This record gives sequence, C-alpha cells and structure tokens, in this order.
Amino acid sequence: MIRKKIAAGNWKMNNTQAEAIQLARQLATTQIPEDTLVILGVPFVYIKDVQSAISGTNIEIAAQNCHQELSGAFTGEISASMLASMDVKYVILGHSERREYFEESNELLAKKTNTALSQGLKVIFCCGEALPVREAGSHVAHVKTQLEEGLFHLSADDLKNVVIAYEPIWAIGTGVTASSDQAQEMHREIRALLSNKYGTDTADQMHILYGGSVKPGNASELFSQLDVDGGLVGGASLKAEDFKAIILA
Ligand code: PEP
Repeated sequence: MIRKKIAAGNWKMNNTQAEAIQLARQLATTQIPEDTLVILGVPFVYIKDVQSAISGTNIEIAAQNCHQELSGAFTGEISASMLASMDVKYVILGHSERREYFEESNELLAKKTNTALSQGLKVIFCCGEALPVREAGSHVAHVKTQLEEGLFHLSADDLKNVVIAYEPIWAIGTGVTASSDQAQEMHREIRALLSNKYGTDTADQMHILYGGSVKPGNASELFSQLDVDGGLVGGASLKAEDFKAIILA
C-alpha cells in the first residue's frame, strides 16, 4: 500500500505575528512533491494570517489543541467547532507537552478526539514514552495503552480521519533522535495493533508519523522506513530552509 508522506510542523508557542507570516510565506514557495502533504501546526491567533499567506498552495493548517466540549463557559478555550468554522482541517491532540504540563489523560484525549471528529476535523493523535519507560523496556506496552484508551473506541470509519504521531518524549526537543530502527520497530508495532483491532486494510491506510528531533540530516533515513509515513516536526519547522528540506525528504 502506497501512503502519501506527511510533513507536519508544530510551531508550538513561538513566533510573533510578523515572524509567523514570514515563515508561512517562505514555505508557500516550496515545490511540494505530489506524494507529500504539508501541514502547519500554528498558534490559534495566527491561523487567519497563515491561511492568507499559504492561499493557493496545498498546505493545510492544524491547530495545536482544542477543548473537549463544543461550546460553553470555558474562558480562554478554543472549540473544535470554532476551528472547523475557520476552515482548519487538522488538530494536534495528546502532544506530550499537553499530557505533561496540562495533565491531559488518555480519557480526556478520547473525548477531545470524539469532539474534533464530530466537527469534521482530522486528528493528529500523539503518543510516546518517556525515557524511564523505554529504559524499562515497557515502551510498546505504554504506547499500546495510550492508543487503546485514547483511540480504540473509534469505529474504523472514524479512525481513517486520524493520523498517529509516535513521539518518544526523550527525543522531543532534545537533539536526540530515535534511530531509524527504533522508529520502525515502534511504528511496526503500532500498525500491528491497528491491524489486530481494525484489520489489515484499515491498518495499511493509516498514517503513522515519527516526531522527535527530526532535522534535514536525519529526515530521509527516518522517512524511508517501511512504516514511517512522515514526521511531526517541532524545532526544525520554525526555520523555513530546514522545514523545506524535510518536506523534500
Ligand atoms: C514535537 O514537539 O512534536 C517535536 C517533535 O519537537 P522537536 O522536533 O523539536 O523534537
């Protein structure tokens, strides 16, 4: 099965408005290969600006979070329906920073996922283990629980609107990248879990991205692994030249 590659950037809480627009304009000039989908995970406040800057390209926008409820008295929060009404196509859910600093549990993420999908958004669902979990050799079991509790209540039809991002926490923003063997091993495990639960057709269609210190120098080796369908990129997505190189990888 040939799956499109995805290069997704996660800008996190970075950049001024002018910097965000400039970065988006620089990326808009990239000759994106036909088999590659580019997604920019931009801060909520710059969504409109970035949409204007990339108009006429195939680049998609992702929000970096949304609330589990559709509307109501939740001061400061952003709902999935607000994002959908702004023509945002993707939302990143379950990033390890949200899990750690905002105490987002698998149960909460299951609710957020349901709400986002109900509004027609596609979900980039992050999972991954911290270093002690890997050192204890429990990384596969840990990710299995994250997926079972966060995603596996979905129907196969709903799951098709989910992209899974495997992001070992020890590799995020640390400069330490999982080796291509470590990435492929976990991605193969994830696809096997999907296959056991949903069957091989669904598992073969699912995109599984790797995240964790992806850079121009390591992207092509990581992305050439059988079950690695692209990357979710933090730091390197803030530099137009680096992210362009990753898109082309
Ligand atoms: C991320 O935060 O999703 C990420 C992968 O960050 P970095 O590429 O900087 O490690």
